[in-house]
Amino acid sequence: MSSLLDTRVLKLNSLYMPFDTMSVRDALCDLFSGVVEAIYVNDAGQYESHDFTSWSQLTEYRVSHEAEWIHTPRLTFPVPRIVRCMDYDDIPVYEPRLTRAGIMERDHNTCQYCNRKFSTKELNIDHVMPRCRGGKNTWTNLVCSCIACNVKKGDKTPSEAGMVLLKKPIKPIRKMKFTLPRNTKTYSGWDKFVSEIYWNTTLSDS
Ligand SMILES: [Zn+2]
Repeated sequence: MSSLLDTRVLKLNSLYMPFDTMSVRDALCDLFSGVVEAIYVNDAGQYESHDFTSWSQLTEYRVSHEAEWIHTPRLTFPVPRIVRCMDYDDIPVYEPRLTRAGIMERDHNTCQYCNRKFSTKELNIDHVMPRCRGGKNTWTNLVCSCIACNVKKGDKTPSEAGMVLLKKPIKPIRKMKFTLPRNTKTYSGWDKFVSEIYWNTTLSDS
């Protein structure tokens, strides 16, 4: 049975960049020993940093009622959901994950056929070699495409459709933006640090 102590806490480096998650249990140990500070996003959207003492003095009056609380014989305090490793300043480098968001990010939300920029919702992921003709879900076969270009291209290759790709699609060398593993439960305030987390369903080829 998983307990509250096994649920996840978002881990930031000293530059407030997310790079991992950890259990509440580990986060409390690190907070107690001063390795991390707890970050609280207040109602105005500002970040407050707390050491163990000031965190354990947060009261129900200040923290939203959605917060979960830890009760010890002497203290009652909210579960930290974001912590910052004060002495860790490496810029996290991630193995890029093949996701819809990853393709959008690589292509800068730009249709790779007509070179126009769109919102994420207005873009499709196009298979350069169409799926029905054996095209795979790979970095080198997926590009951003606007709906008009997508319709025009249909089940043809770019050359058959008389269309030209802006550039050859490649696998990004590294990805700067942290993405949560699929199905990770998220908490209040995480969206300030992790963007587009809901787009990170892996485009598997199964
Ligand atoms: Zn287009």
